[in-house]
Amino acid sequence: MTRFRYLRTRLTVLYAGLFGLTLMLVALAVYMAITASARGVVRGELTASGAVYGQLWDSRSDQLRQGASVLAQDYGFREAVATNDEPTVRSALDNLRGRQKVEGALILGTDGYATSAGVSLDDAAIDTLWTGLNDATLSAGVLSIEGQPYQAVAAPVMAPVLIGWVVFLERLDQAQMRRLEELSAIPLSASVLTRQTTAWHDMAGPASALSGVVDRALDASGTPVGARAAEGETMVLARPLPSFGAEAPAVLTLSYPMARALKPFEPMFWALGVIALIGMALLMAGTWLLSRGLSRPITALDEAVQRLQAGEDAQVEVTSSDEIGRLAQSFNAMAGDIRDRQARLTHMALHDQETGLPNRLWLEREAAVTPSACVLMFGVDRFAVVRNAIGFEAMGQLVSALASRLSTAAGGVRVARVSVGAVAIVLEIENDAEALSLAERLCAVADQPVKLIGATVDASLTAGLDRVGRPSGRVDSLVDRAGIALDQARDARRKAALFDAVAYGDPGANLSLISDLITALESDQVWMAYQPKFDLRDNAITGVEGLMRWNHPKRGFIAPDLFIGMAEETGQIRALTEWGVRRVIADQKALAEAGHALQMSVNISGRLLSDEAFAQFALDAVAEAGGDICFEITETAVIDNPEVALGIIDRFAAAGIKVSIDDYGSGLSSLAYLKRIAADELKIDKAFVLSLDDSAKDALLVKSTIDLAHSLGMSVTAEGVETGTALALLRGMGCDTAQGYFIAKALPMAGLIERLSKPALMETKAA
Ligand code: C2E
Ligand code: CA
Ligand code: CA
Repeated sequence: MTRFRYLRTRLTVLYAGLFGLTLMLVALAVYMAITASARGVVRGELTASGAVYGQLWDSRSDQLRQGASVLAQDYGFREAVATNDEPTVRSALDNLRGRQKVEGALILGTDGYATSAGVSLDDAAIDTLWTGLNDATLSAGVLSIEGQPYQAVAAPVMAPVLIGWVVFLERLDQAQMRRLEELSAIPLSASVLTRQTTAWHDMAGPASALSGVVDRALDASGTPVGARAAEGETMVLARPLPSFGAEAPAVLTLSYPMARALKPFEPMFWALGVIALIGMALLMAGTWLLSRGLSRPITALDEAVQRLQAGEDAQVEVTSSDEIGRLAQSFNAMAGDIRDRQARLTHMALHDQETGLPNRLWLEREAAVTPSACVLMFGVDRFAVVRNAIGFEAMGQLVSALASRLSTAAGGVRVARVSVGAVAIVLEIENDAEALSLAERLCAVADQPVKLIGATVDASLTAGLDRVGRPSGRVDSLVDRAGIALDQARDARRKAALFDAVAYGDPGANLSLISDLITALESDQVWMAYQPKFDLRDNAITGVEGLMRWNHPKRGFIAPDLFIGMAEETGQIRALTEWGVRRVIADQKALAEAGHALQMSVNISGRLLSDEAFAQFALDAVAEAGGDICFEITETAVIDNPEVALGIIDRFAAAGIKVSIDDYGSGLSSLAYLKRIAADELKIDKAFVLSLDDSAKDALLVKSTIDLAHSLGMSVTAEGVETGTALALLRGMGCDTAQGYFIAKALPMAGLIERLSKPALMETKAA
């Protein structure tokens, strides 16, 4: 039954089919019962009519025989016969014929001579009659005269011996048959047939239509048999009639077509048919409606299951209290459970377990649907330190407390916890300045100490933020950008910062740069720029610092801070630095040949200060060249691995390589190490020098650093000198060397040579 897509069609077809089959069986049974009973009635009627005819035949025969006997015993008549007095005989016959109301009468002598009245007999008929009577086999029977059957009844004429017979002949005609037909309750057809050669012939003459059936009907001896006829099935009864002449037997046939017997039932059949059709239609409509009632809730369930699968809410209407109703109820209960579980899961997925606050995922969704979204992320400063001090549990409380303060301060927005130490909100803000000032204001919620159970905590917040519509660089997620901005704010020691895509760059893409770096060294993508160092006492450029440059064929200029940092992380820094040292030595030679004897400074990455192989390379290279070379190193490199680093620095110093402490003041400065490093020069970090003009505090720092370095036997270089004012101040503080854009930027070799040919301090700048 897979052909039916719908239960309803299936039920309807099934029921209609079964009902139709039942109807057909019932109709067949009714038809068969009716035909059987009709057949019985017809059979009975035919048998009865046959018997009646037999009686009629017999009584007529008796009547005629009596009449014949009376005449046969009449003395005068006997004498007339004996004397062959034909007129007397004939008149006596006529007389009797009239009395008995028969068609013909005759006297047949034993000598075969016949005198007849009413009918004329041919010789064949006389012969047949005489044979029958002479053999004394028959006294009454059918006699065929010229094909027409007659009932012949004879009585012997004794004088005193048998001299002949008186015979009456009565024609077996249509009229007599009609009379017989009228006696029957059913309109049967009666006929007397006689056999002529092979076929049975009707009284009328030609071979009878029933001829083929008669022999079979005779075999059934008095029981009607069914036969196929022109009018359909016909019941036929055949009764043999005594007959003169064995070669011409006679038979009475009674026939009745069944079609006629069934005719009265026809309206009933029609009525039955119409009732069946109406019943069928009603059944189909009923089944259709019923199955619709059945299938509608099932269809509803089916659709609900599909909705459930699609994650939608799925409840079905319970319309009944039967199995389907109960199924719908169970389904609703199950769907409800699934929905509750789904809701719990969704809640769990979107909320922080510890604080119950919405989580990062929630915030991301919220940001996605907020127009002009601006994400403000607040990080608890020194999170790890505070957590170690107050414990994990209290830290959760602290985050909750700060979140609730933030929510209130921001006008009731929901605060999400995006990481252990950071919470964030989404607002609609379209302006950077407004967003920044709001972030700074909101950071102030941490100004008041937070009271937790058993402790009061002083916390501070830093904010990172970004909003839709600002350059996002390669960071797709607004929340990620706010997080990076938080790091950027902390790095810059600011209260709040907007995401800076340029500063962040593209850490992902940077990875691919590293593999490019080594091949870049072999091409001229990487080259060395030189920034002059100005001697404040000699008022001359006495040295240069080599600063590496990389022009990437696809990405253009790449900041040295970036690619050098990467080279350090990926183990390429030695190759890079060795290349730098060789380059500087080669360029120093070239400069000397051009008439410029300069001290050449090279930046040496901190990591290489614990690399024995590099140290050996550097010592060999410098020894071979023999020029004035200075290695710039940072203090932090020494602090990380003091034993080895200090040893290597000592060996550099011993080999005549100058050592400079770079970026002094920017990292963790330790006077203890400062004293131990065999350095010739101290470079004050440009952060202090850049703000020298307007910060008295920095000026003091620079001045005391210069004094300290001098007291430790080191010369001092100030880097980041951008203005004449700064230069003048440094000169006043006793600084030895100045480096910065005010003197010159880092220049390629050709540019440097050109610069060296000009005054050390350019006219315009000096002014
Ligand atoms: P650094 O050694 O402190 O180099 C000084 C940086 O300050 C250079 O940046 C220089 O261009 C910049 N600078 C010079 N004068 C001024 C000024 O007046 N104002 C300002 N604002 N900046 C000025 P650069 O070239 O981008 O180099 C950055 C850092 O990259 C260097 O810092 C150094 O640590 C590293 N680096 C550069 N070349 C090499 C190298 O060959 N080897 C190693 N290991 N590191 C290198
Ligand atoms: Ca340097
Ligand atoms: Ca520096």
